[in-house]
Amino acid sequence: MTKRDYYEILGVKKDASEVEIKKKYRQMALNYHPDRNPGDKEAEEKFKESAEAYEVLHDPEKRSLYDRFGHDGLKGTGFTGFSGFEDIFSSFGSVFEDFFGFGTRTRSRTAPQVGADLRYDLKISFFDGAFGREKKISLDKMHSCSSCHGSGAKAGTKPETCPTCKGRGQVMHSQGFFSISTACPQCHGEGTIIKEPCPKCKGTGKVKKRKTVSFQIPAGVENGTRLRLSGEGEDGIRGGPPGDLYIVLFVEEHDFFERKGNDIICEVPIAFTQAVLGAKIEIPTLEEKTTLKIPPGTEPGKIFQLKGLGIPHLKGFGRGDQYVQVTIKVPAKLTKRQKELLQEFAEASGEQDSSVKKKFWGEKRKSTN
Ligand SMILES: [Zn+2]
Ligand SMILES: [Zn+2]
Repeated sequence: MTKRDYYEILGVKKDASEVEIKKKYRQMALNYHPDRNPGDKEAEEKFKESAEAYEVLHDPEKRSLYDRFGHDGLKGTGFTGFSGFEDIFSSFGSVFEDFFGFGTRTRSRTAPQVGADLRYDLKISFFDGAFGREKKISLDKMHSCSSCHGSGAKAGTKPETCPTCKGRGQVMHSQGFFSISTACPQCHGEGTIIKEPCPKCKGTGKVKKRKTVSFQIPAGVENGTRLRLSGEGEDGIRGGPPGDLYIVLFVEEHDFFERKGNDIICEVPIAFTQAVLGAKIEIPTLEEKTTLKIPPGTEPGKIFQLKGLGIPHLKGFGRGDQYVQVTIKVPAKLTKRQKELLQEFAEASGEQDSSVKKKFWGEKRKSTN
């Protein structure tokens, strides 16, 4: 098939200005736009043909090649025309928006759309965060109405093409050279209207349903960890895939264990005699108890590391550590016998109370006066 002359297609003279070419093409694209001529083969052909002509003639380089060598002149440029509408819309998307105030978007109006993602905030215990567990939640989701299959139209009827916008979803208002398009007031941009709404969903195409979802909380999750359950979001629109469900975890704090990443920290009070003489004490860990050896002469605030007794790593192997900080309990009440023994201890250490006191206060006075 021999190709028609591009100037002829657009109905412009050989010396037409760029503005003229754009204007002509705009007119043709409007007339033969597929949204306006659904199923019309001839319009489709004209729409494609004019797009190709415009593609060449609005580009000075291609136009000059075409002027000198005709259709053959374009062979070296990689330009092969358009294979279909999608091709045209993707190449000229911005041009169409310029022209009409809408572009490829009007076509995606009827295309399948992925469903909305959902978010669910879930509070879990400290231990569930550490070791993970199987969970079940129930949530309300909007499902495609089974009675009308999401169309919103009563069973046996179909949404009809909107007579105001002829299905485009947009209406044009001329303002001199420009045309402004706005959402169609009758169909609110949908392009279709429902005469008899589906009684089950009241024409919305969606119904609320409670659904139970089970999933595994992996070990080692932290406050704010987000789990993605693919395909558990809302149903897609017009047969599109469903969205995803995101579960955001809030891990409760623990009275005894404080979490720092995958390590846990705890504070364990010991008797001052244990600190002085050393001892073996029982320490709570995340799972069982363990024995910690306190060496003689342990200072208050000392931190012991228990390797591998922390939180399992979320991604990978191994665990964090447990840190035990000892505090020293000072007895507030002593029996007579305890007092005697401690006094004896103090004397044996040369730390007699009264002399210490005298020395301290004496020096303190000197330095402040
Ligand atoms: Zn329905
Ligand atoms: Zn409309």
